[in-house]
Amino acid sequence: MAKTIYIAGLGLIGASMALGIRRDHPDYEILGYNRSQASRDIALKEGMIDRATDDFASFAPLADVIILTLPIKQTISFIKELANLDLKEGVIISDAGSTKSAIVDAAEQYFAGKHVRFVGAHPMAGSHKTGAASADVNLFENAYYIFTPSSLTGQDTLEEMRDLLSGLHARFIEIDAKEHDRVTSQISHFPHILASSLMEQTAVYAQEHEMARRFAAGGFRDMTRIAESEPGMWTSILLSNSETILERIADFKERLEAIGQAISKGDEEQIWNFFNQAREQRQAMEIHKRGGVDSSYDLYVDVPDEEDVILRILELLRGTSLVNIHINEENREDIHGILQISFKNAQDLERAEHLITENTDYTVVVK
Ligand code: NAD
Repeated sequence: MAKTIYIAGLGLIGASMALGIRRDHPDYEILGYNRSQASRDIALKEGMIDRATDDFASFAPLADVIILTLPIKQTISFIKELANLDLKEGVIISDAGSTKSAIVDAAEQYFAGKHVRFVGAHPMAGSHKTGAASADVNLFENAYYIFTPSSLTGQDTLEEMRDLLSGLHARFIEIDAKEHDRVTSQISHFPHILASSLMEQTAVYAQEHEMARRFAAGGFRDMTRIAESEPGMWTSILLSNSETILERIADFKERLEAIGQAISKGDEEQIWNFFNQAREQRQAMEIHKRGGVDSSYDLYVDVPDEEDVILRILELLRGTSLVNIHINEENREDIHGILQISFKNAQDLERAEHLITENTDYTVVVK
Protein backbone atom coordinates (compact mmCIF):
# COMPACT_ATOMS: atom_id res chain seq x y z
CA MET A 1 0.00 0.00 0.00
CA ALA A 2 1.39 3.37 -0.99
CA LYS A 3 2.24 5.58 1.95
CA THR A 4 2.67 9.28 2.55
CA ILE A 5 6.05 10.24 3.96
CA TYR A 6 6.76 13.66 5.42
CA ILE A 7 10.34 14.84 5.61
CA ALA A 8 10.84 17.93 7.73
CA GLY A 9 14.14 19.62 6.90
CA LEU A 10 15.31 19.30 3.30
CA GLY A 11 19.00 19.66 4.11
CA LEU A 12 21.77 17.25 3.20
CA ILE A 13 20.33 14.42 5.31
CA GLY A 14 16.61 14.99 4.64
CA ALA A 15 16.95 15.44 0.88
CA SER A 16 19.30 12.45 0.57
CA MET A 17 16.79 10.35 2.50
CA ALA A 18 14.01 11.46 0.16
CA LEU A 19 16.08 10.23 -2.80
CA GLY A 20 16.78 6.92 -1.06
CA ILE A 21 13.10 6.37 -0.20
CA ARG A 22 12.10 7.15 -3.80
CA ARG A 23 14.56 4.56 -5.13
CA ASP A 24 12.72 1.59 -3.56
CA HIS A 25 9.24 3.13 -3.20
CA PRO A 26 8.51 5.20 -6.30
CA ASP A 27 4.77 4.97 -5.55
CA TYR A 28 5.03 6.65 -2.14
CA GLU A 29 4.07 10.29 -1.87
CA ILE A 30 6.84 12.36 -0.31
CA LEU A 31 5.99 15.69 1.30
CA GLY A 32 8.67 18.13 2.38
CA TYR A 33 8.95 20.96 4.87
CA ASN A 34 11.73 23.50 4.68
CA ARG A 35 12.09 26.91 6.25
CA SER A 36 13.93 28.51 3.36
CA GLN A 37 12.64 28.52 -0.19
CA ALA A 38 15.92 27.58 -1.88
CA SER A 39 15.97 23.94 -0.69
CA ARG A 40 12.20 23.60 -1.23
CA ASP A 41 12.63 24.68 -4.85
CA ILE A 42 15.55 22.35 -5.47
CA ALA A 43 13.76 19.38 -3.88
CA LEU A 44 10.66 19.97 -6.02
CA LYS A 45 12.59 20.63 -9.22
CA GLU A 46 14.74 17.52 -8.80
CA GLY A 47 11.67 15.39 -8.04
CA MET A 48 12.88 14.49 -4.54
CA ILE A 49 9.48 15.41 -3.12
CA ASP A 50 5.97 15.80 -4.50
CA ARG A 51 4.80 18.78 -2.47
CA ALA A 52 6.52 21.35 -0.28
CA THR A 53 5.54 23.68 2.54
CA ASP A 54 7.08 26.22 4.89
CA ASP A 55 4.32 25.63 7.44
CA PHE A 56 5.43 22.52 9.35
CA ALA A 57 2.07 21.75 10.97
CA SER A 58 0.10 21.82 7.71
CA PHE A 59 1.36 18.48 6.25
CA ALA A 60 1.82 16.55 9.51
CA PRO A 61 -1.78 15.17 9.71
CA LEU A 62 -1.45 13.71 6.18
CA ALA A 63 1.58 11.52 6.90
CA ASP A 64 2.01 7.83 7.70
CA VAL A 65 5.65 8.48 8.57
CA ILE A 66 7.22 11.76 9.67
CA ILE A 67 11.01 12.09 9.65
CA LEU A 68 12.55 15.11 11.34
CA THR A 69 15.88 15.89 9.69
CA LEU A 70 16.60 19.13 11.49
CA PRO A 71 19.14 20.40 14.01
CA ILE A 72 18.72 18.76 17.44
CA LYS A 73 17.07 21.77 19.09
CA GLN A 74 14.51 22.14 16.29
CA THR A 75 13.88 18.38 16.31
CA ILE A 76 12.88 18.64 19.98
CA SER A 77 10.66 21.67 19.45
CA PHE A 78 8.93 19.97 16.48
CA ILE A 79 8.33 16.86 18.61
CA LYS A 80 6.59 19.13 21.10
CA GLU A 81 4.53 20.68 18.31
CA LEU A 82 3.60 17.25 16.86
CA ALA A 83 2.26 16.16 20.25
CA ASN A 84 -0.43 18.83 19.94
CA LEU A 85 -1.46 18.04 16.37
CA ASP A 86 -4.16 15.70 15.16
CA LEU A 87 -1.96 13.04 13.53
CA LYS A 88 -2.91 9.84 11.71
CA GLU A 89 -3.60 6.88 14.00
CA GLY A 90 -0.43 4.78 14.31
CA VAL A 91 1.82 7.35 12.64
CA ILE A 92 5.54 6.65 12.92
CA ILE A 93 7.79 9.57 13.85
CA SER A 94 11.55 9.38 13.56
CA ASP A 95 14.52 11.73 13.34
CA ALA A 96 18.18 11.90 12.30
CA GLY A 97 19.84 13.81 15.13
CA SER A 98 23.47 13.05 15.88
CA THR A 99 22.79 12.67 19.62
CA LYS A 100 19.92 10.59 20.86
CA SER A 101 19.09 10.77 24.58
CA ALA A 102 17.78 14.35 24.59
CA ILE A 103 15.55 13.64 21.57
CA VAL A 104 14.28 10.25 22.81
CA ASP A 105 13.59 11.71 26.28
CA ALA A 106 11.59 14.54 24.71
CA ALA A 107 9.59 12.08 22.58
CA GLU A 108 8.82 9.90 25.62
CA GLN A 109 7.71 12.96 27.55
CA TYR A 110 5.54 14.62 24.89
CA PHE A 111 4.11 11.51 23.18
CA ALA A 112 3.21 9.68 26.42
CA GLY A 113 -0.36 8.40 26.16
CA LYS A 114 -0.70 9.38 22.47
CA HIS A 115 -1.26 7.03 19.52
CA VAL A 116 2.20 7.69 18.19
CA ARG A 117 5.02 5.29 17.40
CA PHE A 118 8.43 6.87 17.71
CA VAL A 119 11.91 5.61 17.00
CA GLY A 120 15.04 7.71 17.40
CA ALA A 121 17.55 7.29 14.60
CA HIS A 122 21.02 8.40 13.60
CA PRO A 123 22.24 7.75 10.09
CA MET A 124 26.01 7.69 10.50
CA ALA A 125 26.87 9.29 7.20
CA GLY A 126 27.24 12.86 6.15
CA SER A 127 29.68 15.46 5.10
CA HIS A 128 30.48 19.10 5.69
CA LYS A 129 28.08 20.03 2.87
CA THR A 130 24.62 21.34 3.66
CA GLY A 131 21.29 21.90 1.94
CA ALA A 132 19.22 20.01 -0.63
CA ALA A 133 21.66 20.95 -3.39
CA SER A 134 24.19 18.52 -1.82
CA ALA A 135 21.72 15.59 -1.69
CA ASP A 136 23.17 12.24 -2.70
CA VAL A 137 21.17 9.04 -3.13
CA ASN A 138 24.27 7.02 -2.19
CA LEU A 139 25.12 9.04 0.95
CA PHE A 140 24.09 6.24 3.32
CA GLU A 141 25.39 3.29 1.33
CA ASN A 142 27.09 0.79 3.68
CA ALA A 143 26.89 3.29 6.55
CA TYR A 144 25.42 2.32 9.91
CA TYR A 145 21.86 3.56 10.32
CA ILE A 146 21.32 3.41 14.05
CA PHE A 147 17.88 3.03 15.62
CA THR A 148 17.49 3.75 19.33
CA PRO A 149 14.24 2.03 20.35
CA SER A 150 12.34 3.20 23.43
CA SER A 151 8.99 2.54 25.09
CA LEU A 152 7.35 4.16 22.04
CA THR A 153 8.95 1.69 19.61
CA GLY A 154 7.55 -1.73 18.75
CA GLN A 155 9.08 -4.44 16.57
CA ASP A 156 6.56 -3.43 13.87
CA THR A 157 7.89 0.15 14.00
CA LEU A 158 11.43 -1.04 13.25
CA GLU A 159 10.29 -3.39 10.50
CA GLU A 160 8.31 -0.64 8.78
CA MET A 161 11.21 1.80 9.04
CA ARG A 162 13.71 -0.71 7.63
CA ASP A 163 11.36 -1.39 4.73
CA LEU A 164 10.78 2.33 4.11
CA LEU A 165 14.52 3.03 4.12
CA SER A 166 15.69 -0.05 2.21
CA GLY A 167 16.70 2.12 -0.77
CA LEU A 168 19.32 3.87 1.37
CA HIS A 169 21.39 0.64 1.26
CA ALA A 170 22.48 1.32 4.83
CA ARG A 171 23.32 -1.14 7.59
CA PHE A 172 20.54 -0.98 10.17
CA ILE A 173 21.43 -1.57 13.78
CA GLU A 174 19.72 -1.02 17.14
CA ILE A 175 21.26 0.34 20.30
CA ASP A 176 20.04 2.01 23.48
CA ALA A 177 19.99 5.83 23.17
CA LYS A 178 22.22 6.45 26.20
CA GLU A 179 24.75 3.88 25.05
CA HIS A 180 24.69 5.49 21.58
CA ASP A 181 25.59 8.83 23.14
CA ARG A 182 28.35 7.32 25.27
CA VAL A 183 29.92 5.48 22.35
CA THR A 184 29.69 8.39 19.92
CA SER A 185 31.12 10.76 22.54
CA GLN A 186 34.29 8.65 22.53
CA ILE A 187 34.66 7.88 18.83
CA SER A 188 33.16 11.01 17.29
CA HIS A 189 32.36 13.95 19.57
CA PHE A 190 35.57 13.96 21.58
CA PRO A 191 37.80 13.47 18.48
CA HIS A 192 36.15 16.57 17.00
CA ILE A 193 37.09 18.55 20.11
CA LEU A 194 40.66 17.25 19.89
CA ALA A 195 41.00 18.05 16.18
CA SER A 196 39.75 21.60 16.68
CA SER A 197 41.93 22.15 19.78
CA LEU A 198 45.00 20.92 17.92
CA MET A 199 44.17 23.19 14.99
CA GLU A 200 43.69 26.18 17.25
CA GLN A 201 46.88 25.47 19.21
CA THR A 202 48.84 25.19 15.96
CA ALA A 203 47.36 28.36 14.48
CA VAL A 204 48.32 30.35 17.58
CA TYR A 205 51.78 28.75 17.63
CA ALA A 206 52.31 29.50 13.94
CA GLN A 207 51.90 33.23 14.63
CA GLU A 208 55.29 33.11 16.38
CA HIS A 209 56.75 30.18 14.43
CA GLU A 210 55.88 30.71 10.82
CA MET A 211 57.52 27.45 9.62
CA ALA A 212 54.89 25.43 11.52
CA ARG A 213 52.44 26.10 8.68
CA ARG A 214 54.91 25.04 6.05
CA PHE A 215 56.06 21.82 7.71
CA ALA A 216 52.59 20.54 8.60
CA ALA A 217 52.15 17.41 6.46
CA GLY A 218 50.29 14.08 6.26
CA GLY A 219 50.05 13.28 9.97
CA PHE A 220 48.85 16.76 10.86
CA ARG A 221 46.38 16.71 7.99
CA ASP A 222 44.93 13.37 9.14
CA MET A 223 44.63 14.58 12.74
CA THR A 224 42.87 17.84 11.85
CA ARG A 225 40.68 16.92 8.86
CA ILE A 226 37.48 17.00 10.94
CA ALA A 227 38.28 20.48 12.28
CA GLU A 228 36.61 21.67 9.06
CA SER A 229 33.21 20.40 10.21
CA GLU A 230 30.14 22.60 10.37
CA PRO A 231 30.31 24.64 13.63
CA GLY A 232 26.54 24.91 14.23
CA MET A 233 26.00 21.17 14.13
CA TRP A 234 28.93 20.49 16.44
CA THR A 235 27.87 23.14 18.93
CA SER A 236 24.49 21.46 19.27
CA ILE A 237 26.06 18.01 19.53
CA LEU A 238 28.31 19.07 22.43
CA LEU A 239 25.48 20.86 24.22
CA SER A 240 23.09 17.91 23.91
CA ASN A 241 25.60 15.31 25.13
CA SER A 242 27.56 17.40 27.60
CA GLU A 243 27.81 14.98 30.54
CA THR A 244 29.48 12.11 28.68
CA ILE A 245 31.70 14.45 26.68
CA LEU A 246 32.96 16.13 29.88
CA GLU A 247 33.82 12.67 31.20
CA ARG A 248 35.87 11.95 28.06
CA ILE A 249 37.72 15.27 28.45
CA ALA A 250 38.55 14.51 32.11
CA ASP A 251 39.77 11.02 31.20
CA PHE A 252 41.94 12.38 28.41
CA LYS A 253 43.50 15.03 30.67
CA GLU A 254 44.69 12.20 32.93
CA ARG A 255 46.20 10.36 29.99
CA LEU A 256 48.03 13.47 28.79
CA GLU A 257 49.24 14.07 32.33
CA ALA A 258 50.59 10.50 32.57
CA ILE A 259 52.57 10.68 29.33
CA GLY A 260 53.80 14.14 30.34
CA GLN A 261 55.14 12.69 33.59
CA ALA A 262 56.82 9.79 31.78
CA ILE A 263 58.59 12.30 29.54
CA SER A 264 59.69 14.49 32.43
CA LYS A 265 61.03 11.42 34.29
CA GLY A 266 62.77 10.23 31.12
CA ASP A 267 61.00 6.87 31.53
CA GLU A 268 61.95 5.26 28.24
CA GLU A 269 60.08 2.02 28.88
CA GLN A 270 56.81 3.74 29.72
CA ILE A 271 57.03 5.94 26.63
CA TRP A 272 57.81 2.95 24.41
CA ASN A 273 54.90 1.02 25.89
CA PHE A 274 52.63 4.00 25.36
CA PHE A 275 53.32 4.04 21.63
CA ASN A 276 53.48 0.28 21.23
CA GLN A 277 50.17 -0.31 22.97
CA ALA A 278 48.42 2.33 20.86
CA ARG A 279 49.91 0.86 17.69
CA GLU A 280 48.69 -2.64 18.56
CA GLN A 281 45.27 -1.35 19.58
CA ARG A 282 44.81 0.56 16.35
CA GLN A 283 45.92 -2.37 14.25
CA ALA A 284 43.30 -4.53 15.95
CA MET A 285 40.49 -2.00 15.36
CA GLU A 286 37.55 -2.31 13.00
CA ILE A 287 38.78 0.57 10.84
CA HIS A 288 41.72 -1.63 9.93
CA LYS A 289 39.57 -4.66 9.26
CA ARG A 290 37.29 -2.54 7.04
CA GLY A 291 33.61 -2.15 7.68
CA GLY A 292 33.99 0.18 10.67
CA VAL A 293 31.96 3.34 10.93
CA ASP A 294 33.90 5.57 8.59
CA SER A 295 35.97 3.01 6.81
CA SER A 296 36.64 3.38 3.17
CA TYR A 297 38.34 0.95 0.90
CA ASP A 298 41.64 2.42 -0.15
CA LEU A 299 44.03 1.53 -2.88
CA TYR A 300 47.42 3.12 -3.40
CA VAL A 301 49.03 3.25 -6.82
CA ASP A 302 52.60 4.24 -7.47
CA VAL A 303 52.26 6.21 -10.65
CA PRO A 304 54.91 8.07 -12.59
CA ASP A 305 54.68 11.83 -12.79
CA GLU A 306 53.43 11.77 -16.35
CA GLU A 307 50.73 13.56 -18.21
CA ASP A 308 47.39 11.74 -18.51
CA VAL A 309 48.25 9.07 -15.91
CA ILE A 310 45.28 9.93 -13.71
CA LEU A 311 42.94 10.14 -16.68
CA ARG A 312 44.08 6.72 -17.82
CA ILE A 313 43.39 5.21 -14.41
CA LEU A 314 40.01 6.89 -14.11
CA GLU A 315 39.11 5.54 -17.53
CA LEU A 316 39.95 2.02 -16.33
CA LEU A 317 37.81 2.49 -13.23
CA ARG A 318 34.74 3.79 -15.00
CA GLY A 319 31.62 2.31 -13.36
CA THR A 320 33.14 1.58 -9.93
CA SER A 321 31.97 3.18 -6.69
CA LEU A 322 35.01 5.45 -6.53
CA VAL A 323 34.39 8.06 -3.82
CA ASN A 324 37.66 9.91 -3.57
CA ILE A 325 40.93 10.32 -5.30
CA HIS A 326 43.86 11.94 -3.61
CA ILE A 327 47.27 12.85 -4.92
CA ASN A 328 49.89 12.56 -2.19
CA GLU A 329 52.36 15.29 -2.88
CA GLU A 330 54.73 14.37 -0.08
CA ASN A 331 56.98 11.47 -0.86
CA ARG A 332 57.33 10.00 2.58
CA GLU A 333 57.78 6.58 4.08
CA ASP A 334 54.35 6.55 5.71
CA ILE A 335 52.68 7.07 2.36
CA HIS A 336 52.20 4.02 0.22
CA GLY A 337 51.87 5.51 -3.20
CA ILE A 338 51.33 8.74 -4.97
CA LEU A 339 47.72 8.13 -5.89
CA GLN A 340 45.22 7.15 -3.19
CA ILE A 341 41.84 6.00 -4.51
CA SER A 342 38.93 5.27 -2.15
CA PHE A 343 35.94 3.06 -2.93
CA LYS A 344 32.66 2.51 -1.18
CA ASN A 345 32.81 -1.24 -1.09
CA ALA A 346 35.20 -4.18 -1.05
CA GLN A 347 34.05 -5.62 -4.39
CA ASP A 348 34.94 -2.44 -6.27
CA LEU A 349 38.26 -2.20 -4.48
CA GLU A 350 39.10 -5.73 -5.61
CA ARG A 351 37.89 -5.03 -9.12
CA ALA A 352 39.99 -1.87 -9.33
CA GLU A 353 43.08 -3.63 -8.07
CA HIS A 354 42.59 -6.27 -10.74
CA LEU A 355 41.94 -3.73 -13.54
CA ILE A 356 44.97 -1.60 -12.74
CA THR A 357 47.32 -4.58 -12.29
CA GLU A 358 46.12 -6.23 -15.53
CA ASN A 359 46.27 -3.11 -17.67
CA THR A 360 49.27 -1.20 -16.35
CA ASP A 361 52.65 -1.94 -14.84
CA TYR A 362 52.10 0.33 -11.84
CA THR A 363 52.56 -1.05 -8.33
CA VAL A 364 49.25 -1.32 -6.49
CA VAL A 365 49.03 -1.59 -2.70
CA VAL A 366 45.83 -2.32 -0.80
CA LYS A 367 46.05 -1.36 2.85
P1 NAD B 1 21.59 20.87 6.86
O1 NAD B 1 22.14 22.15 7.36
O2 NAD B 1 21.94 20.41 5.50
O3 NAD B 1 20.01 20.88 7.01
C1 NAD B 1 19.38 21.32 8.17
C2 NAD B 1 17.90 21.52 7.92
O4 NAD B 1 17.31 22.09 9.08
C3 NAD B 1 17.60 22.47 6.77
O5 NAD B 1 16.49 21.99 6.12
C4 NAD B 1 17.29 23.78 7.50
O6 NAD B 1 16.42 24.60 6.74
C5 NAD B 1 16.60 23.27 8.73
N1 NAD B 1 16.65 24.21 9.85
C6 NAD B 1 17.75 24.71 10.46
N2 NAD B 1 17.40 25.52 11.46
C7 NAD B 1 16.04 25.55 11.49
C8 NAD B 1 15.07 26.20 12.29
N3 NAD B 1 15.42 27.02 13.30
N4 NAD B 1 13.76 25.99 12.02
C9 NAD B 1 13.39 25.18 11.03
N5 NAD B 1 14.25 24.52 10.22
C10 NAD B 1 15.55 24.70 10.46
O7 NAD B 1 22.00 19.79 7.98
P2 NAD B 1 22.00 18.19 7.91
O8 NAD B 1 23.41 17.75 7.75
O9 NAD B 1 20.98 17.71 6.95
O10 NAD B 1 21.60 17.83 9.42
C11 NAD B 1 20.27 17.54 9.82
C12 NAD B 1 20.28 16.65 11.07
O11 NAD B 1 21.00 15.45 10.76
C13 NAD B 1 20.99 17.26 12.28
O12 NAD B 1 20.30 16.92 13.44
C14 NAD B 1 22.34 16.56 12.32
O13 NAD B 1 22.80 16.43 13.65
C15 NAD B 1 21.99 15.22 11.73
N6 NAD B 1 23.11 14.52 11.08
C16 NAD B 1 23.99 15.19 10.27
C17 NAD B 1 25.05 14.52 9.70
C18 NAD B 1 26.04 15.24 8.83
O14 NAD B 1 27.21 14.84 8.76
N7 NAD B 1 25.68 16.27 8.14
C19 NAD B 1 25.20 13.14 9.92
C20 NAD B 1 24.25 12.47 10.70
C21 NAD B 1 23.21 13.17 11.29
